[in-house]
Amino acid sequence: MTGSDEPTKANAEESAVETARRQLERAAAHLDVDEGTVERLRYPKDVYRVTIPVERDDGTTEMFTGYRAHHDSVRGPFKGGLRYHPDVTEDECVGLSMWMTWKCAVMDLPFGGAKGGVVVNPKELSAEEKERLTRRFAEELRPVIGPMKDIPAPDMGTDPQTMAWFMDAYSMQEGQTEPGVVTGKPPVVGGSYGREEAPGRSVGIITREAMKFYGWDPEETTVAVQGFGSVGANAARYLDDLGASIVAVSDVDGAIYDPDGLDTNDVEDHDETPGMVSGYDAPQSLSNEELLTLDVDILIPAAIGNVLTGENARDVNADMIVEGANGPTTSTADQIFEEREIPVIPDILANAGGVTVSYFEWLQDINRRSWRLERVNEELETEMLRAWNAVCEEYENRDVTWRDATYIVALSRIAEAHESRGLWP
Ligand code: GLU
Repeated sequence: MTGSDEPTKANAEESAVETARRQLERAAAHLDVDEGTVERLRYPKDVYRVTIPVERDDGTTEMFTGYRAHHDSVRGPFKGGLRYHPDVTEDECVGLSMWMTWKCAVMDLPFGGAKGGVVVNPKELSAEEKERLTRRFAEELRPVIGPMKDIPAPDMGTDPQTMAWFMDAYSMQEGQTEPGVVTGKPPVVGGSYGREEAPGRSVGIITREAMKFYGWDPEETTVAVQGFGSVGANAARYLDDLGASIVAVSDVDGAIYDPDGLDTNDVEDHDETPGMVSGYDAPQSLSNEELLTLDVDILIPAAIGNVLTGENARDVNADMIVEGANGPTTSTADQIFEEREIPVIPDILANAGGVTVSYFEWLQDINRRSWRLERVNEELETEMLRAWNAVCEEYENRDVTWRDATYIVALSRIAEAHESRGLWP
């Protein structure tokens, strides 16, 4: 194992890899899985660390550090996002790559898990600097990625434009256009319609199914969404359309609150116009921390990791939590929610629409055939329901949490694949 277990500033309570390992062990305890397979899954297959020299606009050269963690590829090529964030660490990439392995398995996609990123605040780079950084990062990773090897995608701080540069840099060096090397591209260069909205849409679909499961009427349901970016805004708008009342949303600067429900189409999301959420003329403004403890039916943390912790989990007043972000709940908080009987629908199921439409995009790229938006959304709905039903079956048959039920579905598929392929040599 490369990488330290040092917690970073952003996840001082517990590192992503520690959380991911604890969750793996909990799921393994419910299954008759070979101990050797579980041991293998505790570690990434490889972690690459690269140094990326970038010429700043003022002519100086600055060095950035980038990572790509490959966790497991027993079911297919590695798959997962690239984030540009100042708190990116090797350890975080490893933890997030483990979550991608489970996420792809829950969705039954023929992919394994990867994650990468660059330690950088993208807001401090000009568009030109971001382009140079992305192109050089693509070049540094070129030996270990590829349409049949490892397929990156957007994550925090990266977007379709980043993916277009990344694809172009890779293609120029390979001597042929390779749209299948990354997903989340703009549709004009082989991206899929509906990919950008997909993680938020799947959070909406899964929340809708969870409401049905508990017999809640959407018209009578109140929702608070932390993080009104791509995931949060699309989830909020989906649930608003279903009739739910979205009473609070937030961005990094703060939250807005309207007990009668906000018009989520009128609030511009943080990616469309930064600062528009907290600057919106709402009846009340709150801090992000206050949003998390609002007395609502459903809380959707859709911003960053480790926001629900041992410190605030007892103050949460929601009746259900649906994870939009990756890893918003620490193990300690999870345990408190279990004691308090607050269901937590996990990230690897709820936001898995992103990687699912990435899979559709990859299929379109390798088949050179684009799908209409209606087809993408129809197939996404089918796949989300298939995954939801598989998780429900485990939830109802065993006395476990939603997270354990989801991990049980994922781990049994991965373990079966490992057992059937065997250990080489
Ligand atoms: N970054 C997204 C996630 O965490 C998408 C990954 C992908 O599409 O490969 O699920």
